[in-house]
Amino acid sequence: MTSSIWHPFTQHGLQEPVPLVTRAEGARLHTADGRAVIDAISSWWVTTHGHCHPRIMAAIAEQAGKLDQLIFAGWTHEPAEQVAEALRALMPPSLTRVFFSDSGSTSVEVALKMALGYWHWRAEDGKGARRHRIVVMDHSYHGDTIGAMSVGARGVFNRPYDPLLFDVGRIPFPAAGAEQATLDALEALCRLPDTAALIVEPLVLGSGGMLFYGAGTLKAMYEICARHGVLFIADEVMTAWGRTGTLTACEQAGVVPDILCLSKGLTGGAVPLAVTMASEAIFEAHYAADRARMFFHSSSYTANPIACAAAAANLAIWREEPVLERVSALAQKQAAWLDKLGRFCHFDNPRSLGTIAALDFKTSGETGYMSDLAPRLMAFFRERDVLLRPLGNTVYVMPPYCIGDDELAQVWDAIGEAVISF
Ligand SMILES: *Cc1c(COP(=O)(O)O)cnc(C)c1O
Repeated sequence: MTSSIWHPFTQHGLQEPVPLVTRAEGARLHTADGRAVIDAISSWWVTTHGHCHPRIMAAIAEQAGKLDQLIFAGWTHEPAEQVAEALRALMPPSLTRVFFSDSGSTSVEVALKMALGYWHWRAEDGKGARRHRIVVMDHSYHGDTIGAMSVGARGVFNRPYDPLLFDVGRIPFPAAGAEQATLDALEALCRLPDTAALIVEPLVLGSGGMLFYGAGTLKAMYEICARHGVLFIADEVMTAWGRTGTLTACEQAGVVPDILCLSKGLTGGAVPLAVTMASEAIFEAHYAADRARMFFHSSSYTANPIACAAAAANLAIWREEPVLERVSALAQKQAAWLDKLGRFCHFDNPRSLGTIAALDFKTSGETGYMSDLAPRLMAFFRERDVLLRPLGNTVYVMPPYCIGDDELAQVWDAIGEAVISF
């Protein structure tokens, strides 16, 4: 099909095929040429319960008949109030404020601005130094806008924009056995008087290659930040909503962040929406009878009512249905498949956490993100009606929670075949 669309993360010069999808249901995507493809990566980590979930679709339809869009500066609406209230009930009580935006990247930009605003206004009040340094973990991903790229891994993804990216403090990824080096680096950076915040993906670095690290390390990182008054920003854009086995990944470490970024599964993956939740202290730093001190951030579609209605329906599903039981059943199946595959063929680093399972292909050639292994694997899986999108030589399965046993078997059979063939 000829099209003028410029697709994301797609090299059109390689004529990568772009299948046309006409509808979706549960864990399946139906294409124009009549195929039913299993969405084994939840359409890039967003779909939690399944595609076109009836409760979420009904909420969208109902809201669409009432109120489509509303300026959110100085105005409010029911769906947003419902979402804020539901989030307050589900998330740690110290996260008292809910700021809406529309993507994971934006929720990160908002978090960074809140953190710098906090230190700025405190300094204006004579309560200490102005702090501006953000500390980040190697191999992190926080989005593709300039600020989000600045706090993420540098490399081929952002080389042309490098002159615009701001400096950050970096700590190594806490690989198994090397955790102390991460903690030592964090301690050293937190001692600097101008360190404002740490931003981190809790327990799993997604785009960095599904790299896992332990809850104990996350907890230790949090404690170092707390001891030095450095703000702890949890980017749970991917890890929340059951992905790692719990509602949030932070709760596995007993960590309550100062700022929490949520998006992807916030609407069950149906429509774009994000929130940045903040502690009262961060809100309070911006609270004054002074217009210059308001939080200067907005996008046109902040808290769009239809998106909020989808999120409210998702949150009702979380309240009323045994979502974590489904997550835990899927988690067990994922671990079992990984184990079973490991008995028949060879690959590196089998790992699973919650609904995420990953393994690394052994290859003699180049394995980085730019090697042609991933696209070749992707094509191999597509021929078997399975949507997987490897990160370099890392193949991971992150399905919607409704995936059936037969569908999951089809995914893992395809991976088994690929391990033998590549
Ligand atoms: C996907 C992702 C983002 C960016 O979210 P978008 O909605 O794509 O902007 C940020 N942080 C993490 C951890 C993510 O996985």
